[in-house]
Amino acid sequence: MKKVEDALKIVMEGTVLMPAEKIAITEACGRIISEDICSTIFHPPSDNSAMDGFAVRWDDVHSASKDNPVELKVLEDVHAGDITGVSLEKGEATSIMTGAPIPEGADTIIRIEDTNRSRGKTIVIYAAGKKGKDIRLKGENIKVGDKVYEAGQFIGPAEVGMLALMGKPFVSVYRKPTVAILVTGDEIRDLDEPFDENKITNSNGYALAAQVEEAGGVPVRLAIARDSKGDLRTKLSEALKSDIVVSSGGVSMGYHDYVKEVLQDLGVEIKFWRVDMRPGHPVAFGRKAEKPVFGLPGNPVSTMVSFEQFARPLIRAMAGHTSPYRPVVEAIVTEDVSSKPGRKHFLRGILSYEDGHYNVCSAGAQGSGILLSMSRSNCLIVIPDEGGQFKAGAKVKVQLLGPEKAGRKAHGY
Ligand code: AMP
Ligand code: MG
Repeated sequence: MKKVEDALKIVMEGTVLMPAEKIAITEACGRIISEDICSTIFHPPSDNSAMDGFAVRWDDVHSASKDNPVELKVLEDVHAGDITGVSLEKGEATSIMTGAPIPEGADTIIRIEDTNRSRGKTIVIYAAGKKGKDIRLKGENIKVGDKVYEAGQFIGPAEVGMLALMGKPFVSVYRKPTVAILVTGDEIRDLDEPFDENKITNSNGYALAAQVEEAGGVPVRLAIARDSKGDLRTKLSEALKSDIVVSSGGVSMGYHDYVKEVLQDLGVEIKFWRVDMRPGHPVAFGRKAEKPVFGLPGNPVSTMVSFEQFARPLIRAMAGHTSPYRPVVEAIVTEDVSSKPGRKHFLRGILSYEDGHYNVCSAGAQGSGILLSMSRSNCLIVIPDEGGQFKAGAKVKVQLLGPEKAGRKAHGY
């Protein structure tokens, strides 16, 4: 029997990163960069204007004010995208658009709001501000040679933008691990079989596939394995062709729970097969060489919660995430909760943010087959191994399961 923390350590300590692949940046959001990226450009490529206005010489305008306006000759009117080739001499200005390079001789931008253009070829300036104002300097964002990203960098929308800005249509990332999903059980009926009230409809195969996708893996769903050593051997051999194997059911103490035994026959070294947690007590984990294999319990909530605790962090770590774990926050329970000592208890909860702190309540009945309360939850309340009573108002730790899922009726600003 393993404590959750010790079991997780065993799962994570053999992590082998997936090999790299090159993909289009349009496909890269959510992936992890697999190599250091240095800039080969300056951005901005040259000093340019941060405003629509007039490029001027500071010496000409520094004394300008409402009572003492300065009048300059306008050499040229430029439009967005045009580049002026002029060079400013004393008393001269040129109009300029945001992002356009600063012309020769100019060192300051005057915003349109501080000017009056009523007299055609001249411009009257009422305020000068500071020398160099509203000029974006060459390379102030990035310079040639800057190490912009290191391997392990998460790619979000801003990183996609930065890669585009650096002129890179492709990026090297860690490949997504393929995850074989094998559900087991003589009593399980799949969705393409006729309804039978004596059978259990396969929900685990679908929930697990969705969990794998959400974690950043590629689910490979296999046909249901029956509770015979022969069928399990055939299907688990097939499953072992993927980068990771996740099975559901057949790992507890029942007469036909052969998953652990068949995995061992197939050369999987079992590292643990029971964990001090609820739901999800019978959880097997092993490796065949470096390949991780999870034998998760069959009850739908136990399957999902044990996947969350062990398989999700490993999938993410193999896909290159340097922070593979769900965030944990402190919250105030709004109703009494209690748990018997001996096992870490993950209660399905609903977390909300109110008046500067998190509140959490139960998401409903907590039986390991009550998938509806899993569906209504957006977090797991973590009751420590010692168990105990937590009265309404007490502080508890809460593991977030995707903060957008529930409990956010207002924007919360
Ligand atoms: P087991 O761990 O094999 O003893 O399974 C425990 C219970 O989980 C079974 O009695 C089923 O009610 C349920 N179960 C097992 N596999 C699935 C599945 N694929 N989908 C939904 N429920 C399942
Ligand atoms: Mg079973």
